[in-house]
Amino acid sequence: MYEVNAICEEGKPLSLKTDGHLRVVFIGVGSAFSKRRRQSNILVIQGDHHVLIDCGTQGPLALDDIGLSVRDVNCYLPTHSHADHIGGFEEVMLMNRYGQPSFHPKLIILRDYQDLLWSKSLSGGAEYCEVNQGRSLQITDFFEILRPLPIETFGSKCWKIQYGPIELILVRTRHFPDSALNVDESQWCSGIYINRKVWISGDTMFDREYPERFSQEAEVMFHDCQLFQGGVHASYQELMTLPREIRAKMYLYHFGDNWDHPETWVQNADKFTGHPEQDGFLGWTQQQAAYDFY
Ligand SMILES: [Zn+2]
Repeated sequence: MYEVNAICEEGKPLSLKTDGHLRVVFIGVGSAFSKRRRQSNILVIQGDHHVLIDCGTQGPLALDDIGLSVRDVNCYLPTHSHADHIGGFEEVMLMNRYGQPSFHPKLIILRDYQDLLWSKSLSGGAEYCEVNQGRSLQITDFFEILRPLPIETFGSKCWKIQYGPIELILVRTRHFPDSALNVDESQWCSGIYINRKVWISGDTMFDREYPERFSQEAEVMFHDCQLFQGGVHASYQELMTLPREIRAKMYLYHFGDNWDHPETWVQNADKFTGHPEQDGFLGWTQQQAAYDFY
């Protein structure tokens, strides 16, 4: 069972510990270009362990919203190299390396993606900081790497890591380019399945069998959702084609700033209202609320 609870009551910072239960907090729920609800970055907390899934350009601001900074987070998991998911990592790296005391947070990442993330994205702002002292820096100068291992449980494109009490299963998704017909043609991107209970799609185009497969076991599902057709995300219209029993355990996140004005994105011919509860979903994912699983 789970509850949705308020956080930061009376302005207190969010605690990065729980009494042992799993807590999931979306510090943002918006799309890449959201100005109203931050970007879809997610804190997972259990006992005295926590992981921040993605830290986008607004990630440091979204942490500040709940009384935290990138220096409070000691473990990160980047899902893919779009700026709304990794744009805050330069602040993570530089604040931790050059702040006092310096600190080496953990980074959960596959070997192949580690090299891509560093060489194509993060190295530009970080590798030359100390070049005059003999060598350019590497990603391992900023992070302690934790490596998920491949598992077969949910098909061949899954990797697992046990981080304290938190089991994280990374599931490869088909996100971009939009011409990709399968995950092998796609750039690296993953969804996350937590404690075999909470499924977060990650950024993905609509792949019916993906939510269907996890709906058999997951207690609650979070699916990314864009308010128009085409592009690199599952659209509301496509998600409406899922069976009612799957929609009934699904919250929607990663939505555009006009989510609450369905008259701007629901067409007359559509057979849905644009109000997720009325359309059979659990609802829009709440920003800065705790989804507590017992
Ligand atoms: Zn993306």
